[in-house]
Amino acid sequence: MTTEDIRSCFPQLERKVFGKPLVYLDNAATSLRPKSVIECWERSASQTTANLHRAVHQVAVEATEAYEAARKAVAEFINAAETEEVIFTSGATHAINLAAFSIGEAFLDEGDEIIVSETEHHSNLVPWQMVCRRKGAIMKRLPVDENGRLKIELLDSLIRSRTRLVCVAHVSNVLGLVNPIQEISQICHRHGVMLLVDGAQGIVHQKVDVQALGCDFYAFSGHKMYGAPGTGVLWGRRGLLEQMPPMFGGGEMIESVSWESSSWAPLPRKFEAGTQDISGTPCFVPAIKMLQEMPQNEEIKEFVYKALTAEPGIRLFGTTDDMSLKAPVFSISAEGAHHEDLALIMDKMGVALRSGQMCAEPLMDRFGVTGMLRASFAPYNTMQEAEYFLSSLRKAISMLR
Ligand code: PMP
Repeated sequence: MTTEDIRSCFPQLERKVFGKPLVYLDNAATSLRPKSVIECWERSASQTTANLHRAVHQVAVEATEAYEAARKAVAEFINAAETEEVIFTSGATHAINLAAFSIGEAFLDEGDEIIVSETEHHSNLVPWQMVCRRKGAIMKRLPVDENGRLKIELLDSLIRSRTRLVCVAHVSNVLGLVNPIQEISQICHRHGVMLLVDGAQGIVHQKVDVQALGCDFYAFSGHKMYGAPGTGVLWGRRGLLEQMPPMFGGGEMIESVSWESSSWAPLPRKFEAGTQDISGTPCFVPAIKMLQEMPQNEEIKEFVYKALTAEPGIRLFGTTDDMSLKAPVFSISAEGAHHEDLALIMDKMGVALRSGQMCAEPLMDRFGVTGMLRASFAPYNTMQEAEYFLSSLRKAISMLR
């Protein structure tokens, strides 16, 4: 697919903001949706609306088949050993909260320890604080260096006899660096410690094979990978998921219910209480197809990286000599120009960027900044847009200095 072919699939790219063509560089927050996903959602909403796994009527059967086909597609996409290991959630945040609650109940006692990396999005940090508070467990920090690289060499000594779990992002939403998950999982498993990976960004930019990565849990959202908002996945190893109690009760997550007690349905339904996203979840099928068909634009990534690292007065967070370890996610600060002001000015030029703490306040503290400006690219972004972003950035900075 050429970039033009790709662009023709995304209707929102045709719109303007403030009379200027939209240059959408906020893909790490949420990606745009291709026509195939919009059509899938519309088809489901207009033709196959019925509740799942319940009724015997034809429309309910079709709705359930579409939902379960999505589970199969996701399982194949991430190379899960079994389809039942894929649990649908409303997004990465829900997936990690579910994991945190259920891991806490099954595996954590007072005085146990969890290690969380310093780069984490709040969604892979706050749920662990909550479970630690509830269970009397202790949360420890895996730090990053000045370039944003995780200090993996400290992991061995951070893991102690009471450590149960390590939580780390596959790709940081701020730094855009790909963390060495295989290496981390080897260290974890040498010590008999579980590894949960926040794949909200990783799933978009990396080929994910959960078995090859060696992690125990992998969480991600549909809306960042060109799918429907309000959809997400928690993948976990069957052996662990089976030991974990559900977080929510009700609906089809039961095997049987009496007045005194209930027992749980087998995986994955045990973790899917209540009515699920009937129309959004089937969109994983066209979203995965789109993701697989679109080539990543390495040329644009390297061009923007080089330009930002060479630009006087700009600091790029998350640097590496190995471009295969950098996703096209660029967070910067500019001397004499506040990130929020830059974002507002550049918005008027048609460039949609993210500014602020990016849901990673401890990481902002680590780098001594109150916020950053982030440009995140997708395969539908063009070289022309990259050049326009850089010239608009220079212009906005000069207006503020
Ligand atoms: N983790 C990371 C690394 C993210 O980038 C995000 C989204 N910004 C999340 C978790 C949370 O995803 P969601 O809001 O879709 O639940």
